[in-house]
Amino acid sequence: MLYLYRMEFSQDIFLNKIAQTTDSPYLITIDRAEGIYMYSPDGKRYTDLISGIGVSSLGHGHPKVIKAIKEQVDKHLHVMVYGEFIQSAPNLLAQKLTSLLPANLNCCYFVNSGTEANEGALKLAKRYTGRTEIVSFRKSYHGSTHGSMSVSGNEVKKQAFRPLLPDVRFIDFNVLTDLEKITTTTACVIVETIQGDAGVRIPSKEYMKALRKRCDETGALLILDEIQCGMGRTGKLFAFEHFGIVPDILTVAKAFGGGLPIGSFISDKKIMQSLTHDPMLGHITTFGGNPVCCASALATLQVLEEENLVAQAEAKGQLIEHLLKHPHIKEVRRIGLMFAIDFDSADRVNNIVMRAKELGIITYWFLSHPYSFRIAPPLTITEEQIKESCAAILKAIDNA
Ligand code: PMP
Repeated sequence: MLYLYRMEFSQDIFLNKIAQTTDSPYLITIDRAEGIYMYSPDGKRYTDLISGIGVSSLGHGHPKVIKAIKEQVDKHLHVMVYGEFIQSAPNLLAQKLTSLLPANLNCCYFVNSGTEANEGALKLAKRYTGRTEIVSFRKSYHGSTHGSMSVSGNEVKKQAFRPLLPDVRFIDFNVLTDLEKITTTTACVIVETIQGDAGVRIPSKEYMKALRKRCDETGALLILDEIQCGMGRTGKLFAFEHFGIVPDILTVAKAFGGGLPIGSFISDKKIMQSLTHDPMLGHITTFGGNPVCCASALATLQVLEEENLVAQAEAKGQLIEHLLKHPHIKEVRRIGLMFAIDFDSADRVNNIVMRAKELGIITYWFLSHPYSFRIAPPLTITEEQIKESCAAILKAIDNA
């Protein structure tokens, strides 16, 4: 326990010199991480069953990602603000990413985070359509900056920060009759293809097709936020592939960067061009498309393909679902390796997350659904690791 007295691991510095946003931070100390495991300085091992909230899909420190990062670091770091200099890493990433997407998603704007990807997408839709109304969904989460917060559904989190963006209209997710509230004055509809922080809510195929159709009829652009559910998590590289629809604008971040901060909003070049005039520089970022982050994202896409990880996500998810049988579990919502496990009370969920932590298993809560905890392990998790983790979770449920 000696490390507790070392300044770099000081709890006092963490709690007082680093801004806190909760009274009860998770508070484990991490020194290094490898694969699905993270280690504290005294060598205690933690199993990361949430991938740092949907980020570390290849596990921690994948050698090919680390190699790509190191090679880029040796070439150059930041050289210029977004959109001025030609650099290999963003070029190669844009080429690769668009090659994996439908033909209309052919132009990428790289940013630094999920919320910034959504900010850019909302601005692009307003600018392109010349309309102002945004339709979003109750219980959605799109980020914590003003624009993304304005279109997020969690009223408790928003209340203290009003006034927010005007002209935002909320409708119910997966409710066909609400689609008529999308009209010819709507600039865009922003929706998580799978609602994440609402506790993994999976819409019907019929609903998603009707949503696409309604957007086509009214001329509203459809923005799919795949920041949490994208990049293979659901068993398809992009979750919209499950529904046979294609968005006008796609947003990605989190797992996209393979552990470094990068996001993107992706659209058709003819839509994207509206950021170049009236006014020019319609969206600006200094660090967006940072070459080191782009190199990491490119390597991540390559590894997803080479190791055939996306195709394995469904079978691994099924195995977890099969092993996690317990009388206290009320409901499991799952797609691929994205899980919400429901219980009868928030207190029980809290106890389970804490008991699991004591057993060295990292699970976590949802922002807008206290009756569940989440599991979203690295896609690289093995059958053996799944069995070991599920046994520990069942023990945590027993002890909670
Ligand atoms: N959209 C969704 C669906 C998310 O889950 C998140 C993060 N939880 C965001 C947007 C915001 O991403 P970031 O935290 O990188 O700003």
